[in-house]
This record gives sequence, C-alpha cells and structure tokens, in this order.
Amino acid sequence: MRLILLGPPGAGKGTQAQKLVDQHNLVQLSTGDMLRAAVKAETPIGLRAKALMDAGELVPDEVVVQIVSERLDEPDCGNGFILDGFPRTVPQAEALDALLERKRLQLDVVIELVVDEDALLDRVKKRAAESGDNVRSDDNADALKKRLDVYRAQTAPLAQFYREKGLLKQVNGMAAIEEVSSEIDRIFVEVG
Ligand code: ADP
Repeated sequence: MRLILLGPPGAGKGTQAQKLVDQHNLVQLSTGDMLRAAVKAETPIGLRAKALMDAGELVPDEVVVQIVSERLDEPDCGNGFILDGFPRTVPQAEALDALLERKRLQLDVVIELVVDEDALLDRVKKRAAESGDNVRSDDNADALKKRLDVYRAQTAPLAQFYREKGLLKQVNGMAAIEEVSSEIDRIFVEVG
C-alpha cells in the first residue's frame, strides 16, 4: 500500500501513521521528521531549513522532493509507504507524480484527516505543553498560526488535486483516535 496522509498540523497524521506502520508493515516517511534530523545533524539541508521551519514557513520544494526521492529508493520502502507531511504544495504533488512514474510506482490512496481549526490550536498547544524539554522549536503560538495559514493556502488545495485523480478519501479527524483508525482500516479494505 502506498498512501498519502493529508491534514493540517495537529490533525493526528503522526499518530495514525504510527498505527499503520505497526499493523501493516509500512514505512512512515515524514518530511518534518527528516528535516528535523537534518537540522539536528547540521547538514547543509538542515542549515538551510532551520530558520524557515522555526518560523512555520515551508522549506523549498526542491529540497523536500529530493529527500523524498532518495528515501523512496531505500529497500524498506518496497512493501509500501505512508507519506506524512509531503506533498504540501501543488508543485510538490506534481513532482511526486513525476518521480513515482519514473520509479514505476503508483499511489493507492490519499487519506485526508478533516478537522476543525479551532480545535487544532488547542491540540497543538497541548502537545507543546506536554512535550516538556522535547518541545519542538516550531510548536509556539506564532509559528503554529503561520503553519495553519500556510496549510490553508498551499496544502488544502491538494484535496481537490487528488479528488480529481479519484484517489481522495476523507475521514473525520475530530473523532476519537481509535475511531479514526478503524475508519482508515475500512478504507484499506476497500482499496485493497
Ligand atoms: P506539522 O504538520 O505539525 O506542522 P511537520 O513535522 O510536518 O509539522 O513539518 C514541520 C516543518 O517542516 C514545516 O512547518 C515546514 O517548515 C517543514 N516541512 C515539512 N515537510 C515539508 C514539505 N513537504 N515541504 C516544505 N516544508 C516542509
């Protein structure tokens, strides 16, 4: 199974992705995690990305496209993967199409976690409060607001992009974690 999880910051993509990894033996490809690792390791990409990430802005498309493309070539992706946090713009989605075609791979489904924005602010603030010393440098009110604005403007249009391709499935992300994951399981059965 090759899928994209779509949804704003705090929608629960990471939580659901982790469950899918455990249950279906898929690999989770989170561009946010990969970029945070690059920042921590102070690689050239990390040095370039840090200030943008801290401000809640997007890292340039070509940077993330490149890391995803390289990651997809690793053998553990052979059984399928979950893209989490990528693509985030229409040009990224177009680049993904092109690179999947080159690699002779097809997407099975795009699952959008649909959530209410007011509730998101609360969720992410709570996540920041609970993470103690491990707080992400972009989990503050300003950067979060910015991330939501960027999501609305640049990422939300991807739902229509994938709807037109017949790949979009929407799930109510406001439901309890277990309900969301059984909804996703139903989609897996349906998509096969
Ligand atoms: P969240 O979805 O909770 O905002 P992520 O962990 O997915 O957080 O991403 C954190 C930051 O990493 C983003 O705000 C952005 O700066 C950068 N980032 C992650 N994925 C991408 C992407 N596909 N394109 C551009 N920037 C990205």
